[in-house]
Parts: sequence; structure tokens; C-alpha cells
Amino acid sequence: MNIYHKILELIDQHDSFAISAHVNPDGDSIGAQLALYSFLADLNKYVRIFNTDPIPPNYHFLPFSEKIEQPCDLDGYSPEVLIVLDASTLVRIGNHLSKNLVPQQLTINIDHHASADRFGDYNLVESGASSTCEIVYKLIQLSGTKIGYKQAMALYTGIMFDTGCFRYSNSTSQVHHIAANLIDQGIEVDKIYRAVYETNPVRRLRLLTKALETVEISPDGKIAWLIISKKMFDHTGTTLEDADGIINQIRSIDTIEVAIMAVSNAQEQSKISMRSKDYVDVGKICAEFGGGGHARAAGCLIDKSCETALEMVIEITEKYIDI
Ligand code: 5GP
Ligand code: MN
Repeated sequence: MNIYHKILELIDQHDSFAISAHVNPDGDSIGAQLALYSFLADLNKYVRIFNTDPIPPNYHFLPFSEKIEQPCDLDGYSPEVLIVLDASTLVRIGNHLSKNLVPQQLTINIDHHASADRFGDYNLVESGASSTCEIVYKLIQLSGTKIGYKQAMALYTGIMFDTGCFRYSNSTSQVHHIAANLIDQGIEVDKIYRAVYETNPVRRLRLLTKALETVEISPDGKIAWLIISKKMFDHTGTTLEDADGIINQIRSIDTIEVAIMAVSNAQEQSKISMRSKDYVDVGKICAEFGGGGHARAAGCLIDKSCETALEMVIEITEKYIDI
């Protein structure tokens, strides 16, 4: 029996579920959670969604987004089955949740990260998939239930997000077929795009302005980086989630192969985001610092100031550039 059928069988055999996903949720993790929630709820399962961080307001338009809980404690809730989405390690759902959200029976991991460490009792991991939403789409399709408007909204949002609006190399023919099927459910793609990308508060633009002032480029022009400091957040009234997407601005520089963004978080650590265009596997670079991700988009946390963290990452990146 293949893993898709096995997971559908496990869903059939159990009644209570919890769904979690990585910290700092993004379009793919949120879309996958909400589509899976809707699928399980339609099967009359008892299901709750727990995340460490709140979802950004630009995802509040998605059906069932209000179902996502950020628990201080879990009121003793222990589901039969825990399903962890879009997270390559269990601790990516957050320290507290990873220790306290303990299922009675089993954990299922559904993910598309090449760095997935297969921590579940059952692991549906496809590193060739564009997004976790693509995998959830296939799972629901296989079950024979109809993907309706609400699930289509969530799944399209996740696929759109993780393919950079169908621009990255993971925008396969299959991705476009799936998108077509989702659009056939009556979703309005322009409204989804606007909700996700064109509802920025002006403070976000102010943060972008400050961040762009810090851009530096290596002598060979192949690596560009920028810093977002705590001061910038304070001056613009922004928080960590407002920094999402800023890295794409430096990716657009013509000579660049690797873009790096270092963001200072509340614990004074540096959250490193990396993107590459063509050949550098940034997932491998981030893995050297205990993080992970994909070949073209990855991240890690480094317990140093942004300046020091950047120096360390750039040094390693130079080796990969020269390969
Ligand atoms: P972003 O730079 O947008 O935060 O993340 C890019 C990709 O890298 C995402 O697929 C994300 O899951 C992964 N990623 C980001 N930060 C970390 C991290 O600290 N650890 C791991 N394992 N993956 C990360
Ligand atoms: Mn993803």
C-alpha cells in the first residue's frame, strides 16, 4: 500500500486529530493546515489546529483561519493523531508545542523539504513537490471526496506562495494542472493574490526602505545581503513577520546568485533567510548551521549578532559559489 493510501486509512481509523505546522507560518503551511482541517471536518472528525505563532492578517480571508489556536496550555488535549505539516523537524513547530502536543497514538508528517528528517510514525515526504499544499491536494483527490471552494482557496494560496506566484523552478506542469483544477472550483485568483501580497500596511514599506539601505554585494557580484535590526523594527513599528518577502527584493539584482537576509529576533538571535537563483544549494548551507529548507530557499537560526552571523554564512557561501 502506498503512503497516500496508508494515511487515508489511518484517517479513516481514528477520530481525533491535531494539526500543527512550522513557526512563523507562511502561505503554504497555513493553506495546508486549513485545507486538511476542512477535509477532516467534512469526514466528521474532531480536529483542532495549534500553531506557535499567530497567522499574519493577510491570511485572515481564508476560510477556517479563525480555527487556528495559539495555546499557552493545551487544556490537557491529546489527540489520537498529530499531523505535522511543512516542517522538516518536530521542533520546527516550536519548543513548547513540540514537547506538549503529544498524540495518544501516532504522528504523521506531511512535508516537501529535502531536509525532512522523517520524525513521524508515518511520513508523507515528497521533496519534488512544490509545496505541502500540492501533497495535501493529492491526498484529498485520492480519497475521492470533492475539493470544494473553501479547500481550493487554501490550497491555491499555498501553491501560489511556495512557487513565488508560479515563477520558480518548482512551478511544474503538474502544479499548473492542479492550479487549473482549483480555479475550476470558482476561486478568484486576483482576489487571492491581492489579499496575500497587496494588503501591506505602510509601515512594512518603511521597513523595506530601511532594509534596502543596508544592502551590500560581494566583490564578484554574486552574493548580496541585508540586515534588519531590532532598531529598524522599533523605528517603523514593525515585527518579525513584516520582514517576510523582503529577501526577494535583493534576489532581483542581475548578477546575484545568492541572497541572504539576517533578521534580529526577540531573543537577540539572527534569523537567516537564503535564496538562490540557479545552482547554489542554500538548503545545504543552512544545514551547516542547524537549519534547512530547499535548494533555492532555506533558513537557519544563529545565536550571534546579525553582523557576525552574516560573516559566518557568507564565508561558507563563497565556497559553494566557486564549486
Ligand atoms: P524563510 O526564509 O522564508 O523563512 O524560509 C525559507 C525556507 O527555509 C522555508 O521552506 C522554511 O521552511 C525553511 N527554513 C527557514 N528557517 C528555517 C530553520 O531555522 N530551520 C529549518 N530546518 N528550515 C528553515
Ligand atoms: Mn512549504
